[in-house]
Amino acid sequence: MPRKNLILISGITAVAVLILVQLYTLNQIWNQKDELFRLKYHELSKEALEYFDRELFTNGFGTAFENISNYSTYIVNSDFLSDTPDSDRDLLTDLVMDDVNNYLKSDEELTRLLSNYFRARGLDGDINGRIIVNYFDLIDSSTVHQIYLSEPFLKRKSLQTGILVSRFRSEDNNYRLSFDYFIDVAGKQTIILREIFISLALSMVSIVVVVLIFLFAYRNLMEERRLSELKTDFINNMTHELKTPLSTITVASKSLEMERIVSDKEKIVETARLIGRQSVSLNHLINLILETSIWERTEFEPDIRNMAIGPVLNDIVDSFRAGNYENADINSSIRLEGITIRADVTYFTTMINNLLSNAIKYCKKRPEVSIEGSSDGTKVTIKISDNGVGISPDQRRLIFDKFYRVPHGDIHKTKGLGLGLYYVERIVKSHEGCIEVISEPGEGSTFIVTLPVNRD
Ligand code: ADP
Repeated sequence: MPRKNLILISGITAVAVLILVQLYTLNQIWNQKDELFRLKYHELSKEALEYFDRELFTNGFGTAFENISNYSTYIVNSDFLSDTPDSDRDLLTDLVMDDVNNYLKSDEELTRLLSNYFRARGLDGDINGRIIVNYFDLIDSSTVHQIYLSEPFLKRKSLQTGILVSRFRSEDNNYRLSFDYFIDVAGKQTIILREIFISLALSMVSIVVVVLIFLFAYRNLMEERRLSELKTDFINNMTHELKTPLSTITVASKSLEMERIVSDKEKIVETARLIGRQSVSLNHLINLILETSIWERTEFEPDIRNMAIGPVLNDIVDSFRAGNYENADINSSIRLEGITIRADVTYFTTMINNLLSNAIKYCKKRPEVSIEGSSDGTKVTIKISDNGVGISPDQRRLIFDKFYRVPHGDIHKTKGLGLGLYYVERIVKSHEGCIEVISEPGEGSTFIVTLPVNRD
């Protein structure tokens, strides 16, 4: 597996484990708080029941029990129980239990009393009472008719949700009843959330911080790797670029020792010129490398002066055209008469030359290059267009990076060190201008440089 993926996967796993641990801890804290919450309300409810009994002489179900008692007497005295055939027994049970439940629900006062009691103690009094009947029997003289028997207390699921206040029992000659009374506190979630807010916020912050640190470290690592790959490419390119003129010079100087050449004056001159040209190219390369390292170490400070851009641009284009007359069509339309900008003429020339030579270099057919110069009075726009190979959108943002070269299979086919556009961008920026590229692969490219006009 590539190292990049390994780092990514282990990073993501570490973050995921951290998130799981945090979630587990939060869940534990939540459960603990929930338990404490129930306990608190349970204890308080017990206390409240004692208080109601002592001070108000009620358990909150006085009316309900009285009504159930009357109801039971009525059922027992009627012939319902004895007259109902076994087949309709369930129906009767349902009807009776509906009535009993209704009495309990609508006549109970405990919920209101508890609510007031909690409020008086500064707690949330927004509660719902819930009743679950355990059993209900009707008693006819000495016969007990079991009307309803619920599941065993401990098996009931509802136990887990509500807070058990108490188990109540009531009986008289005609009935026997047992039920559990629960309460649900409406704002329970909010109260617990508020209590664990700090832990929640801290764990969120720690997750976010870890994720950010991971992303930052990963990005840096990738950037380091990219730079180191670029540097390796650069060294390979530079070695290649330096070797070519050097080996030409070596061969040429060796040939000067050959009898055949020594006797031919014309050949000597030709060889000397070749050596001269290669030395110039070597010199140019070495200067480029030196300049780059100087630019890295010191602030880039161009010698900015007033410059009549029209004539300078015309001169650059003319001499470039003279050097490439045979292998390219170079058209220019420069409408910049009377316009001056603040610029360093040497750097400006390097910038335009780099753009023009790229326009010719990255072209597979006969290059057609056009250079346009215009101004709207506030800024100067220089457009250099070609019919070359073009640049894909993802490469467009990288080409200005130092040492970056678009991979074209055999990288040595087209000479270069990946510094040309890096220079161009730095020069443009030091002149307070900007540069943009419009390009499509196979359709050619247009580099647009915009510089401010000098209005002094
Ligand atoms: P170099 O030419 O030395 O490789 P540059 O910095 O001048 O370095 O250019 C960076 C990359 O941008 C080049 O490798 C090339 O792929 C791409 N490029 C630059 N100019 C053009 C252009 N006019 N047409 C197509 N591709 C270009």
